[in-house]
Amino acid sequence: MKRRDILKGSLAAGALALLPKGGAQGAPQNVPSLGRRYRNLIVFVYDGFSWEDYAIAQAYARRRLGRALALERLLARYPNGLMNTYSLTSYVTESSAAGNAMSCGVKTVNGGLAVHADGTPLKPFFAAAKEMGKAVGLVTTTTVTHATPASFVVSNPDRNAEAQIAEQYLAFGAEVYLGGGDRFFNPERRQDKKDMYAAFAQAGYGVVKTPEELARSNASKLLGVFSDSHVPYEVDRRFQGLRVPSLKEMVQAALPRLAAHRNGFVLQVEAGRIDHSNHLNDPAATLWDVLAADEALEALTAFVDRNPDTLLLLAADHATGVGALYGTGRSYLESSVGIDLLEAQKASFEHMGRVLGTNPDAGQVKEAYRAMKGVALSDEEAQMVVEAITKRVYLPDAVRYSIQPANTMSWAMVQKNAQKPERPNIGWSSGQHTASPVMLALYGQGLRFLNLGLVDNTHVFRLMGEALGIRYQNPVMSEEEALEILKSRPVGMRHPEEVWA
Ligand SMILES: [Zn+2]
Repeated sequence: MKRRDILKGSLAAGALALLPKGGAQGAPQNVPSLGRRYRNLIVFVYDGFSWEDYAIAQAYARRRLGRALALERLLARYPNGLMNTYSLTSYVTESSAAGNAMSCGVKTVNGGLAVHADGTPLKPFFAAAKEMGKAVGLVTTTTVTHATPASFVVSNPDRNAEAQIAEQYLAFGAEVYLGGGDRFFNPERRQDKKDMYAAFAQAGYGVVKTPEELARSNASKLLGVFSDSHVPYEVDRRFQGLRVPSLKEMVQAALPRLAAHRNGFVLQVEAGRIDHSNHLNDPAATLWDVLAADEALEALTAFVDRNPDTLLLLAADHATGVGALYGTGRSYLESSVGIDLLEAQKASFEHMGRVLGTNPDAGQVKEAYRAMKGVALSDEEAQMVVEAITKRVYLPDAVRYSIQPANTMSWAMVQKNAQKPERPNIGWSSGQHTASPVMLALYGQGLRFLNLGLVDNTHVFRLMGEALGIRYQNPVMSEEEALEILKSRPVGMRHPEEVWA
């Protein structure tokens, strides 16, 4: 008897242990419809963004910046709902399976781009849009070849094969690629020594690597790569003077180039590092990347207002962390202290790690936390950080908190006084992705009274198809088939996010 038959037999017998882990059997299907077409489509993905991140940013914007988030205003007035995110074989998705669900309309296993576990390629939505003549753009704060943008345009069994994905991008020929990832384009950094910059230039792209070059370029097709790996966090760009464009500046470079095309365009914008800072348990890095996304969102909604034949779809792909502001003090009266204290945090752990190097002493650690996190560490806490960096001794445990030494650096500055917080009252459940439903929202003309409700993330594919009048079906794989294939694979997926250099 083949394994597949055994599985089917057990399921028929009602064996609880073999019931699908992630599947949707018996779940109500909610398939809201737009009821109209658009010429242009913008998909704005907040990677790893939870409602807890939203709550902290909303409170910070109101309390410290004296304004409401553009996202808050949008959610208050336009259709929004919740999206289930589970992958084909896990309640907890990673970015490529989440990207595939949105771009291909079918569930896949974690780890590959627009592909099933048996290697069957899927057609991503932006590839179909390109076939019907739409210009295509990808703008992100991660490496431009990272899972979320890549899953919308190319198929590859390994999301980490980014040097190869850079070549697939050249063959695909989108009009705009903006993000990080020099090491996948630079001949001195690529293993095969291929000069991808020269290849893109040969194909008619303006190639830019600094904010100044981006602002100056008048090329109609653009490859912008602004950092060796991911584009630095907004908190470091803003307060530590790192010279990279903001997400808004990248969006503003992309929009006019794409809008110049006769047949309209599709654009994915990704606030890609909210996920990373949440993996690292770094509340200030998350906050400022959400605020940077908000500035980009303002530029996008302004474009939609001027070009009402454009649909803007906002989605988180999954939650990460999650870092939550928790109630503290008598009657929770001290809860907002955590919001106020975030103002003193002027750098990410990633930047602190670069400053501290591989062999810091306790005095240097204390000074870095004082200057960059606004926190006075005790001797004991500073020593905890020294040991994490120099000896890989991690606290409180390396299973739940998996991105090290950052998670220990975060743990070192955890709030100690429950009645009167002297440090932000933000707690973390893990350094991993989580299973909660996430944000889905729409902005555009003729949508005000649409009720989105709770949908599956695969429904994004149908909404995009309806918006542009593109209809096709990718092959579906069952969870049982996928599990059978995964069993015979020698290795599982690599760690989903490389976030600590
Ligand atoms: Zn993600």
